[in-house]
Amino acid sequence: MAVSITEALDIIDTNLTPLDAEIIPIEVSVNRVVAQDYIASFPLPRFNNSAMDGYAVKVSDASSKVSCSEVIYAGDNPQMKLEKGKAIKIMTGAPIPEGCEAIVPIENVTGENDLITLPSDIQHNGFIRMAGEDIMKGKAFLHKGDVINAYTIASLASQGITHVTVTRVIKVAIFGTGDELRPHFEKIEAHQLYNSNSPMFLARARSLGCDARFIRSSADTLEALQDAITSTLDADIIITSGGVSVGDKDFTKEAFTNLGMDVLIDKIDIKPGRPTIVGKLGKTVVVNLPGNPLASMVNYELFVRAVMRKMSGRTDSYHATVKTKMKEDFSVRGGKHAVVLGRFNGEHFEALKPQMPGMVSPMQEADGFILITPEVKTLAKDSLVNMLPISWELSANIREDLFSS
Ligand code: AMP
Ligand code: MG
Repeated sequence: MAVSITEALDIIDTNLTPLDAEIIPIEVSVNRVVAQDYIASFPLPRFNNSAMDGYAVKVSDASSKVSCSEVIYAGDNPQMKLEKGKAIKIMTGAPIPEGCEAIVPIENVTGENDLITLPSDIQHNGFIRMAGEDIMKGKAFLHKGDVINAYTIASLASQGITHVTVTRVIKVAIFGTGDELRPHFEKIEAHQLYNSNSPMFLARARSLGCDARFIRSSADTLEALQDAITSTLDADIIITSGGVSVGDKDFTKEAFTNLGMDVLIDKIDIKPGRPTIVGKLGKTVVVNLPGNPLASMVNYELFVRAVMRKMSGRTDSYHATVKTKMKEDFSVRGGKHAVVLGRFNGEHFEALKPQMPGMVSPMQEADGFILITPEVKTLAKDSLVNMLPISWELSANIREDLFSS
């Protein structure tokens, strides 16, 4: 029985679990998902230090002339003590000396070298960076399920962490099904068709951080399909296209169930892409998408991406939407939960025309898509819609309403 889009996403969320973890150098960890909390083992800054090139002073010396004969540089370990009536020259990042109550920036003093006049307004602790004001010792500065970016690496490096525990990369295996298909690097006859889905699925899986490979497409027989499946069982996710509808040679589901797949989702109430199947074959998650390229693509964006996010262990594993407005009136047939692909220019969503399930060319134009409910017949110019982006990665840690009405 067909399930709704929301139910399908719920089934994926509740039935799949993150992969196991591995330890990798932080330098190569961008876009990976952290598999444990990281606690600061010391404060940052580690010691009170000067925020400016300036002078370490006493607050009570404001407006006075003070003498200065010493300098502290970043990297020094000063042992001296600051006395009233004196200043110690200090550079940005240098530890403040004992007795220092504030730093006065160089540009705020007058006079030169060993005799300077301090300004009238000196705030207690002014221009001092306090130990722990950035990260407190004992604080979790990175959480299980966070995605590492370049700036996360700064936090890790600042704690002297060389290696990070992350969910391992998802291994994806892809194959197409169909007697008519030939690989894009071979010669074909007029009645044959290039397999465009497999290279597309592969490229998308890689752009989403997976380790993906595809094998030759399978002929439309149970034996050929079962052979293809058997050769991909080491994958974490198997993605196929074609052979899931009601055609005489649509054996994909039967081949997978013969080999022991438990079906989690059998058809989704979505147009295009209703025959989509999601299952589990041992630990391997299987997604059988329809053969029609655009139908397979929208279901990949909706469901395969959800599978990958969930298996990656990221906390923000749910689809997120951008609130935008229709650029022009757009009519739909209505009566179905449907997907509309479109361009997004930062302000408006422009539905792509034409867009049919079997087409290839509209896909590369799409920045995102909207989901509409059966009641919707027209989307008027300027009406608000919720777009799920394709051109960039956006996800949420709570379920959002994905539909536009
Ligand atoms: P199917 O879902 O097997 O009935 O296929 C539906 C339509 O998609 C047919 O026109 C197929 O020729 C086409 N198709 C199936 N697989 C692919 C593929 N890998 N690349 C491009 N088109 C495909
Ligand atoms: Mg087919």
